Amino acid sequence: MPMIQLLNPYCTGDFTWLKGNLHSHTLFSDGERSPEDVIADYQQRGYDFLAISDHDFYVPVERYQQGTTMTLLPAAEVTALGPHILQIGIPLRIEPDADRQRVLDDIRARGGLAILNHPNWEWHFNHFRHEFMEDLEGATGLEVYNGVIERLEGSALASDRWDRLLSMGNWLWGFANDDSHRARDVGVAWNVVQASEATPAAILQAFRQGQFYASTGVVINDIRVDGASISIRTENAQRIRFVSRWGVVRASVDSEQAQWQVPDEPKQVAAWRYVRIECYGPRGQMAWMQPIKIEIP
Ligand SMILES: [Zn+2]
Ligand SMILES: [Zn+2]
Repeated sequence: MPMIQLLNPYCTGDFTWLKGNLHSHTLFSDGERSPEDVIADYQQRGYDFLAISDHDFYVPVERYQQGTTMTLLPAAEVTALGPHILQIGIPLRIEPDADRQRVLDDIRARGGLAILNHPNWEWHFNHFRHEFMEDLEGATGLEVYNGVIERLEGSALASDRWDRLLSMGNWLWGFANDDSHRARDVGVAWNVVQASEATPAAILQAFRQGQFYASTGVVINDIRVDGASISIRTENAQRIRFVSRWGVVRASVDSEQAQWQVPDEPKQVAAWRYVRIECYGPRGQMAWMQPIKIEIP
């Protein structure tokens, strides 16, 4: 019986990597283009799935599914009365209650995914007040990267918030999305899931289980966990970092692949709680793997 157990969320059986963006806007809220144009743009770029997530408005994707080979996921962005939350997998508008816990409860009761959006948006970098985020229950994840914030006030990157939440015991997956409003916002950030098939149900299930990575350009080919050893193979990473509780970097390797062994020191390692892998590639590209829980039985 090993003293240190790693709870690997990733698939060990058969799967296909599918690429998609979960956050995009159209003329039905403040986007500049029609759903048809947005869908055609993502399809041309080789995406496998897409969610149209207009502000407090459900765009009926079933109406557009016939016109594309991508899998369209029902979605909307709960916007009014508080910080923004993506609802994925529910074919209707969730009521934007000022009590965001009720919004999360509603999304969960209807079987959807809830993602806390762009936490570091706005001049105060605090769209989601941190203590408020810590108190929320039932979110699937948060946006560790939101593309549109590159041209707005705040920080597109929110891995700082992610590490703090994970360290406090809030187990959230990390997503990267375009939040596209204009043509130039498309293709900045996406998620790649390990799905058994290209159906909405299979894609949602993979997200729910953390079988995906978030990316702005680094491509992951393989992730393996064997006992206390974690290995990752990428196409184009130049640096791979292993990050644990409170954001401490436990190892950093300048290569497109890396292997790391969790030290056989259970007492010390018990306090690390998790390890997640962050990849840095050319031209500022990144990828974020989902956290692997460290357990000492
Ligand atoms: Zn938003
Ligand atoms: Zn948005």
